[in-house]
Amino acid sequence: MVKLCAGFLRGCGLVLGLVSLAVRAAEPVAPTDDKLELYACSYGRSRFPETSAFRDGRKGEFVEIAWGFYVARSGAEVTLIDTGFNDPATAKKWWVKMTAEPAQLLADLKIDPAKVSRVIITHLHFDHVGNLPLFPKAQVVISRRDRDDYVNKKPLGGMIYDPRVAEILSDPARTHVIGGREMLSGGFEVEMVGGHTAGSSVVHLFHQGTHYVLAGDECYLCANQKEQRPIGQTADLKRNIAFLSRIADPAVIVLPCHDPEIFTKYPAVTPNIVRVFGPKEY
Ligand SMILES: [Zn+2]
Repeated sequence: MVKLCAGFLRGCGLVLGLVSLAVRAAEPVAPTDDKLELYACSYGRSRFPETSAFRDGRKGEFVEIAWGFYVARSGAEVTLIDTGFNDPATAKKWWVKMTAEPAQLLADLKIDPAKVSRVIITHLHFDHVGNLPLFPKAQVVISRRDRDDYVNKKPLGGMIYDPRVAEILSDPARTHVIGGREMLSGGFEVEMVGGHTAGSSVVHLFHQGTHYVLAGDECYLCANQKEQRPIGQTADLKRNIAFLSRIADPAVIVLPCHDPEIFTKYPAVTPNIVRVFGPKEY
């Protein structure tokens, strides 16, 4: 009997241990510092086919989208998540009504592009990587797969080859490539998802107890997460679905690059910039 009880207790201990491990695994490994500020910047608007935004979208219907990127700052350290683009011919081709120049948005935040320390590229499409040459000193972080597809000029939809970008991505002194999931300094955890493009990535931030996901285009809109509806433009639909289910918890705040709602949900700093979190003064 004593033996049985001891075995039972040991079993309980094991279960409790596993449960606490699971709880611990879900907790932030390296939360960001409290001084971190995060801004969403928008430089354009357009209509977008509903079938692109949602796998189950209606043919012939459109949704309004924004074109944006994110800026995170902690003291002198500035990290951009994607860069936007600034080419009038590309804007025309994609029916984008440009509302601001990405470089001007940085100036509005009193950020000198030459002093940006890091640029995380979620994927190789023109609106996420196009302005990379603006940041001569930044360390660039991108998935190995998307870096390789870019420099090898893979003829993928949404990819516009720019030799200046390829040169930066080919330079190991400038570009750090990631495989699966990697925690960068400052609490920026980059995860390669591979749903939207083969190497498409997202960035997790655990800030003051809240889990934010800068989703690149793994979510075009917050509704992709909220309603668990996969995007319509995928390299691997299953990977996008698996990602959406991993962030299904409504407590997870999703920050896509194309949802106009982001620019009304958070307090405005200027007409094209909102503060997701951080101090009121900057
Ligand atoms: Zn995009």
